[in-house]
Amino acid sequence: MLALRFYNKRDVRLENLPKPEPSENEVLIKVTQSGISQTQINEFIEGPFFINKDPHPLTGKSIPLIPCQEYGGIIEDVGKKVPKSLIGKQVAVLPLKSCGRCKYCKKGKENLCEKMAYHGLLGLDGGFAEYSVVHVNNIFPVEKEELLTFIEPLLVGLNTFDIYRTISKKKSFKREKVLILGAGPVGLSVASVWKDYVKADVSINDILAFRHKKAKELGLKTVDKGEIKKNSFDVVIDAAGMDPLSTQSAIVEGINYIKKGGFLISVGSYFHPVEFIPADLTFSEKNIISSMAYSLKLVNELPDVIKNLKINFKSLIQEIPLSKIIEEGYYRAEVEKESFVRIVVKC
Ligand SMILES: [Zn+2]
Repeated sequence: MLALRFYNKRDVRLENLPKPEPSENEVLIKVTQSGISQTQINEFIEGPFFINKDPHPLTGKSIPLIPCQEYGGIIEDVGKKVPKSLIGKQVAVLPLKSCGRCKYCKKGKENLCEKMAYHGLLGLDGGFAEYSVVHVNNIFPVEKEELLTFIEPLLVGLNTFDIYRTISKKKSFKREKVLILGAGPVGLSVASVWKDYVKADVSINDILAFRHKKAKELGLKTVDKGEIKKNSFDVVIDAAGMDPLSTQSAIVEGINYIKKGGFLISVGSYFHPVEFIPADLTFSEKNIISSMAYSLKLVNELPDVIKNLKINFKSLIQEIPLSKIIEEGYYRAEVEKESFVRIVVKC
């Protein structure tokens, strides 16, 4: 099968690999949609950050690794202990795999597992390939093909909410003013969760004009950068992360927009130092909290989230073939950010 493998920074290779076979508890997926995320572009430009060079403690696997944590397809074959009735079903991959034994797993925080693995990022192959084998517990049925690459980002969005509802102890979030910084696939997924599922009052901004406009076309309430009021949001979510085009990082800028006593939730990735003045937090009891991937209990909530979604995710997708992933995927995502929101590899 054709597959892309990550060897190192600036070194990804399209290769012909043997078609994988499912072991007894696994399914073989014919991959149909795999999303190119900023996370993978960061790995390519400056990484590896998440992708492991040494053998992974849970899976034993190291680079070269097939990237992509946001993908899905059709089940083509199943292992001995998996019901044959799953063959032909369309599923998204739930990328997180945990040990189930450590203190974090025991309290339902599998995203902090001491041996966490993640398809396409950490110790497990991912979706930039014609086929992928995953454990039967790592699939989620999806009706609409266009949602296959958004299941992981929606879980990431749901995790930001889960952390906030735990900390705030609130029951209703209708009056909650929420600002999302970043309108890429993650930002839009986070915005969808907070607007359509949580029913909060959501605004969104992106420093890229193309993405900002797209968010508006999708029916989201956009707010231009110069018009964002200081100290006015209960929750600010940084879904932008590290961006070489920005002179000020969203996480630092976001501090200005939180109400006194409010929260900034960091979900974007930063791999370089950022400067901020701690007194900007202390003097108004502003808080920065972090959200990492998702915990497994949230998968149970996902059908409800999907039922409530109003954004037309299909309109975000630009498809490219796997054979052109390096030029039209990686390079384009690095240098032409003003021309797409979601590049999907159609295998
Ligand atoms: Zn664990």
